[in-house]
Amino acid sequence: MSTDTRAAGELTGLTAAELAGKIASREVSSVEVTQAHLDRIAEIDDQLGAFLHVNGAQALVAAKAADDAIASGDAPSALAGVPIALKDVFTTLDAPTTCGSKILEGWVPPYDAAVTERLRAAGIPILGKTNMDEFAMGSSTENSAYQVTRNPWDTSRIPGGSGGGSAAALASYQAPLAIGTDTGGSIRQPAAVTATVGVKPTYGTVSRYGLVACASSLDQGGPCGRTVLDTALLHSVIAGHDARDSTSIDVPVPDVIAAAKAGAEQDLSGVRIGVVTELQGEGYQPGVLESFRAAVSLLTERGAEVVEVSCPHFTYALGAYYLILPSEVSSNLARFDAMRYGLRVGDDGSHSAEEVMAMTRDQGFGPEVKRRIMIGTYALSSGYYDAYYGQAQKVRTLISRDFASAFEKVDVLVSPTTPTTAFPLGEKVDDPLAMYLFDLCTLPVNLAGIGAMSVPSGLSADDGLPVGLQIMAPALADDRLYRIGASYEAARGPIG
Ligand code: GLN
Repeated sequence: MSTDTRAAGELTGLTAAELAGKIASREVSSVEVTQAHLDRIAEIDDQLGAFLHVNGAQALVAAKAADDAIASGDAPSALAGVPIALKDVFTTLDAPTTCGSKILEGWVPPYDAAVTERLRAAGIPILGKTNMDEFAMGSSTENSAYQVTRNPWDTSRIPGGSGGGSAAALASYQAPLAIGTDTGGSIRQPAAVTATVGVKPTYGTVSRYGLVACASSLDQGGPCGRTVLDTALLHSVIAGHDARDSTSIDVPVPDVIAAAKAGAEQDLSGVRIGVVTELQGEGYQPGVLESFRAAVSLLTERGAEVVEVSCPHFTYALGAYYLILPSEVSSNLARFDAMRYGLRVGDDGSHSAEEVMAMTRDQGFGPEVKRRIMIGTYALSSGYYDAYYGQAQKVRTLISRDFASAFEKVDVLVSPTTPTTAFPLGEKVDDPLAMYLFDLCTLPVNLAGIGAMSVPSGLSADDGLPVGLQIMAPALADDRLYRIGASYEAARGPIG
């Protein structure tokens, strides 16, 4: 018998902020809250496939430790005891880390990622590792080598990608919080299609130490939740300087919690918002555009001054991204050489080391990963480097300049997060370009290294599925995302 994938239980239906309050006042224990989520996972996840690995015993040990710390007046953080789902691209000492790839099957890392360490230090029990497109390459989670993940709003549809597991876990009340990574949209786009909140922080503000690299100049870990405040609480746990990541920025993390709390109470007078001309119009689903326009009207009603802003080079973002990303992938994924991690094929003494490497990579990587390794290797080869990789880097600079000149006129930019709502499973698996186009609105942010949020803007009138509003802020001004996101969320009211 199937259970309603969107029906919350008494504890699982609460926000992370509410759970944190009840756990801190010892009205409920973290053990009870964690067990309630483990029960929900056991009850429902075979219908959704959000988790690749569930860490029940360890989660309960961490929950007990959080309860004990709270009982002795020593709560480790504002989220102490509130459990979380972790994308399977962050290393964990006590659980396998596969990145959705067969090449890492069975690999248990010898160290925790910086994000994992921060979650543990904050007393946040890790429920398990969530499904994802292989090495975070994809837009639907269908590129996972292990399983399909279904959208809790309509189980015949995709949950977005690459972080579809984390988004589906949140939307089905299997976890009150989740962690994702965003290289071209993999936090924001799954958030949009599941009516959850996802933030891609400014590049360099969340450590990439122990985040298995897809494209190092684009990858960024970030918080996912069902409300803006929950996401802010998690953001402040995971952000901060880390000397082990050479691109980590040593600046104070903005007070995103205060920004989210203030935003919920405040109107938007004095705030200037730019609607990006190039991220709307032809090719967008009518119901998505309608929801976006309604969101913009609400922002105006809330007192914001809204203008239209052109970012002419955004048109080239997809082309530039799909040269820069594969180039970095071809280099980063060279480390999976059958010698150091996980899978090793043909190691029976009858093959040379080169043959073992070739067979392992052939069997261990899926088609999308191979496609990108080949494109990247080609784009970086001598004779083509300037024509492809070099040109793409120039476009990247032009996109950053578009943002810089836009942010001279406005405080934040907005657009729909995705051009359509969640599409049916299987619809785009054989059409890579159609799949890539689903991330049209989110890619420019990664190329420029700035921060952005997707916040639900309601359900599309044409198919009843969730739509996301994307808010983009200048680098290191992530607090603006929370202030404006929370103000909009308060004005919007509940969804569905
Ligand atoms: N869908 C995009 C890609 O396939 C973005 C992925 C991501 O952000 N990890 O590259």
